[in-house]
Amino acid sequence: MKIRTKLTLGVGLLFMLITLLTYVGAKSINALKNDTDNILVANYNTLEYSRNILMALDELVTDKSAMNKIEENLLKQESNITEIGEREATQQLRQHFTILKINNFDRTTHFIIRKDIAEIMRLNMESIQRKSNVAKQTAASATIWIALSGTLCFVIAFTLLINLPGNIASPIRKLTESIKRIAANDYSQRVYFQDHSEFGELARSFNRMAEKLEEYNNSNLSQLLFEKRRIETLINNMHDPVIGLDENKKIIFVNNQALKVIGLKPEQLINQQAQNVSLINDLIRSLVKDLIMPESIVIEDKKKPVKIFADNKESYFEKDIIDIAFVPTGEKELQHIGHVIILKNITPFKELDFARTNFIATISHELKTPISSIKMSIQLLEKQQTGTINEEQKQLIDSIKEDSQRLLKITSELLNLSQVETGNIQLNIQKSTPYQILKFATEAVKVQAEQKQIKILSEIDENLPLVKADTEKTAWVLINFLTNAINYSPEQSKINIRISLQDQLVNFSVSDQGKGIEKRYKDKIFDKYFQVPGSVKTGTGLGLAISKEFIEAQNGTIGVESEIGMGSTFYFKLGIVS
Ligand code: ADP
Repeated sequence: MKIRTKLTLGVGLLFMLITLLTYVGAKSINALKNDTDNILVANYNTLEYSRNILMALDELVTDKSAMNKIEENLLKQESNITEIGEREATQQLRQHFTILKINNFDRTTHFIIRKDIAEIMRLNMESIQRKSNVAKQTAASATIWIALSGTLCFVIAFTLLINLPGNIASPIRKLTESIKRIAANDYSQRVYFQDHSEFGELARSFNRMAEKLEEYNNSNLSQLLFEKRRIETLINNMHDPVIGLDENKKIIFVNNQALKVIGLKPEQLINQQAQNVSLINDLIRSLVKDLIMPESIVIEDKKKPVKIFADNKESYFEKDIIDIAFVPTGEKELQHIGHVIILKNITPFKELDFARTNFIATISHELKTPISSIKMSIQLLEKQQTGTINEEQKQLIDSIKEDSQRLLKITSELLNLSQVETGNIQLNIQKSTPYQILKFATEAVKVQAEQKQIKILSEIDENLPLVKADTEKTAWVLINFLTNAINYSPEQSKINIRISLQDQLVNFSVSDQGKGIEKRYKDKIFDKYFQVPGSVKTGTGLGLAISKEFIEAQNGTIGVESEIGMGSTFYFKLGIVS
């Protein structure tokens, strides 16, 4: 129970007892007062009237007017009848007084009246005696009640007096003792209070404090230094560069590998604010920009490996920023204490990647010539001059033609990709007319569209400005959009090309009536080799990835709007010639 509640209950109980005692006392005094009032009103007055009548009787011998006095007191007595038998006695007195009025010297009547009065007085005296007994009883029972409630009050007050101060003081004493012992370096001290009072809470806080003090005391300095050196050696021996920052972005450690790639001395880094160092060092700037800049600005760069030129060679690193947080002893909340930046050396993988890209480039380049010659040979074969061919042979030639077309597409896409991956896109940016790009693209896919009886409608704004673009590559992208639209649309459907001016950019869009693309794949389809699961695998999954690279290399943007069952609209936007 809380101390506050205990005190409230204790004082409340005392207050209740005082009220009870007052009530019992007041009630008893009131009962006694009622008893005496009763005697006074009912009997004392009657005795007074009777005495007055007796005195008047004596005066009657000499003074006749005393008759009135008797009448007056008799009337008063008649209206103050309170005892059993008093009414009859008073009636008799009235009768005898009437006789006395006729003959006021009749001695016998005098005597009878005196007797009547004596009877009335006797009745009242007896009553006084009785009522006095009742009053005595009332007083006795009042004494008992007051004594009982007084004893009860005493017992309760005494119990409170004995227990309450002890109840409050003893935990304080225990705590004081424990604090004194902690002050004397005995950190094993703990206090336990079972109840849920304020002392329980105090004890928990005290124990938490003692626990922390014990922990600090146990971790002695040399042990700490040894552990620190061990961790430092461990970090220094790591093959990957590691940089540690505290919660205020101050650099607290940098291992040897990191020093090598950053190219600064330890004193230029340790205990310096990362923001300040980033002003003089590009690498630090690119490493900590994620921590300094708001999330949205850096999202795109996150995946890109960091290229660093150190030790006379180019190396590639993958940046990993780890948030360091822990729960301090005795607390529940996680506390953030800084970041560790680890650079994973991915140069060997990158080299392998380059080798693969080069291999692909060489292969696709080497394949292009024989495939083209196959195509040419087929064209020659198709001509009648080389001899007549039967229907079966014609079908075989058609199939070879289709396959070589496909092979040519794949090799050219692979070649494009290797250019993109090696960063060797040769852009030939000119002032291009959107109409020319459109014409070039629609011509290229005409036959393909006709085969599926698909209608390509184009809508182009009048007086469109020239765009800054590589006509060939942009047309390639548009052709890729159109080929996809044809491939992923049902037969006899329509494809709409729209070229319009939007916010100083020319927007090329291709809308189809195909099955559309699920929201979750919208970004992924621009990744290399990605093909929407379940869709017809006609190509290589490279077309959109290359398109993205082509458009972004021209400072344009590319995207798709699509809903399942509603078709898709692929678009790209390019800047105009100002
Ligand atoms: P692919 O050679 O497979 O067509 P792309 O990079 O051009 O490669 O396209 C990637 C994937 O995006 C395709 O495999 C297909 O699943 C999906 N896709 C592209 N264009 C459309 C479209 N117009 N309608 C529906 N899905 C499409």
